[in-house]
Amino acid sequence: MPERTPINPDHESTRNVFRVAGPLVFGLGGLFMIIGFVDFASGFGGTKPPTMFWCFFVGMPLLGIGATMTRAGYAGKIARYYSQEITPVATDTFKYAARETKDSIREIAGAIREGLVSGTSESARVEPMPGTAPATPPPLTVRILRCHRCNHDNTAEARFCSQCGVALAKQVPCRHCDELNDPDAKFCDNCGKPIA
Ligand SMILES: [Zn+2]
Ligand SMILES: [Zn+2]
Repeated sequence: MPERTPINPDHESTRNVFRVAGPLVFGLGGLFMIIGFVDFASGFGGTKPPTMFWCFFVGMPLLGIGATMTRAGYAGKIARYYSQEITPVATDTFKYAARETKDSIREIAGAIREGLVSGTSESARVEPMPGTAPATPPPLTVRILRCHRCNHDNTAEARFCSQCGVALAKQVPCRHCDELNDPDAKFCDNCGKPIA
């Protein structure tokens, strides 16, 4: 509803006229209606036909005009009432709706952003299938101690080969660089010079 602020004094005076004339016209229309109704009702009981029936057709528009004028005369008051009583609620509702909308937009934007990120840079990332345990990263180094005699793969902590029983620990120091080499190594693992 557009707020009608009585800035123009002419409008204000017109409104005052309406405020006085409106009820007068309304009352006049009601009076005509009563006259017409009484005349109409008395016409049934008596012998003379209703002659004041036209009062209905005068009173009825007068009632409408009076009501309209009264409403126009108090339109400013009504508008102010609405602006004071209704508008704050409407404003709050609008703010609430705007805030909700903003949050929704933010959520949508975030979803789009996540979608773009997951669609581009994280596309190679393999998500674990729902219901399964998250994939554990594979061990970076497989620690296997291979036997220098029979090539059997032993655990890294093994001190003797589980296949041939040879000592796996590197215990022969190199004479040149002090690197520990296999017991039967002929050349140093580090510097390549002969052990013996
Ligand atoms: Zn072995
Ligand atoms: Zn060496």
